[in-house]
Amino acid sequence: MGESVADDNDSRHAVASGNGTRAAADEPDPDDGTVDVNEKVVMSAGRLQDLKKKEKELLELIKMLRMEKNKELVKERLVIGVIGFGNFGQFIAKTLSGHAKIVAMSRSDYSAQAEAMGGCYVPLSKPETFFRQVDVVLFMVSIKSFKDTLKNLMPAIVADQERRKTLGFSGPLFADVLSVKEHPRKLMLEMLPEKCDVVCTHPMFGPVSGKNGWTNLKFIFEKTRVDGKVLALPGTTDMAGRRKARMAGIAKHARGMIGGGVDGSRNTKDDTTAAKEGFDRMERFLSIWEEEGCTMEEMSCKDHDLYAARSQFITHLVGRTLGTCKLQPTPVDTMGFESMLALDKSVNADSFDLFYGLYKYNNYNAMDIIFGLRRGIDDVLADLRKIDHQQFDAEARA
Ligand code: NAP
Repeated sequence: MGESVADDNDSRHAVASGNGTRAAADEPDPDDGTVDVNEKVVMSAGRLQDLKKKEKELLELIKMLRMEKNKELVKERLVIGVIGFGNFGQFIAKTLSGHAKIVAMSRSDYSAQAEAMGGCYVPLSKPETFFRQVDVVLFMVSIKSFKDTLKNLMPAIVADQERRKTLGFSGPLFADVLSVKEHPRKLMLEMLPEKCDVVCTHPMFGPVSGKNGWTNLKFIFEKTRVDGKVLALPGTTDMAGRRKARMAGIAKHARGMIGGGVDGSRNTKDDTTAAKEGFDRMERFLSIWEEEGCTMEEMSCKDHDLYAARSQFITHLVGRTLGTCKLQPTPVDTMGFESMLALDKSVNADSFDLFYGLYKYNNYNAMDIIFGLRRGIDDVLADLRKIDHQQFDAEARA
């Protein structure tokens, strides 16, 4: 095969050289910056096989690691206490119940729904019963009611912390799924006892988009506090830089150079027992979403809210506006119109409290987006009117 490439080359040069000297056409000029095709083959020969071998070894290693990880995960089943067992609370808890025991607490009595998931329901009037049995407290109440819910539960949380301290138990981990992130982060850091660990999360999907499973759906999280230490996350919006840093962390980890999480955010040597248990609990909780196939995106609450104002809020705003137009399918629907119907359906299936929460509690001004959309409609209308006038003038002149 090598020979035939050389033969082809020679004949090409011969044709290309025309009536020029044969030597000049056959021998490459060493200074022209090009690499002869034979040289290229020699340079890369064996490299692809090496890379493929390494790839295979790494895949084997990942398979083994995953098996070990799964063994570790099933060893200790978390007890997840859900506060707010409404529409979204039940949707999420149903999948979580495949990995953990669910204890639900809500204003309304959801005993039947919780039992159907192999869990139990505790009324809001008995918070002590709730806190004493859970490893994770997951807030799934409306954004609007979050502050009061937390405030009302504070005496029970403080009493539970005292009890755990006496018994030498750490935990629980406090988590939330609110669609805005800086608001619950601030309140949890300010109101919860300092030793309560905190993780702020936002599953970027709901009962409609996640009805067929959570594979490849985005899950945003910020590891906020462990054992009294607020884990600093740069509030940068430089996503490319962050991704690069994470990949560097992963590469370092693969080479066995660091002992902590792949993000390199902790130094296990210095961790107290409470910190080790705290990180472990947090990883177990996050692993459930990971195992369900979510695309895990670690991000500061600040960045989340900045991005969400420009993407999620405008989606809900347009969906709500479409909802007022009473759209109906027609026999001539285009794909564009079908997308509009789908948006109308999914956004308006959510409670208005959720939309209000997005409007009120995202610091990155929802009003700018509302006025921007209104201005946009006015501008489009003005363009239409301009043509109307030009047409009218032209007809009048004719
Ligand atoms: P929602 O209207 O935002 O919240 C309903 C839940 O809040 C119910 O569990 C309800 O409890 C509870 N609640 C409302 N007012 C309360 C009060 N004054 N005191 C105590 N509890 C109160 O609708 P949702 O769709 O179920 O959303 C729940 C949370 O998930 C929200 O924080 C939302 O931002 C977040 N989230 C939702 C989606 C989604 O697709 N829907 C996606 C990601 C995140 P009862 O049922 O007992 O009345």
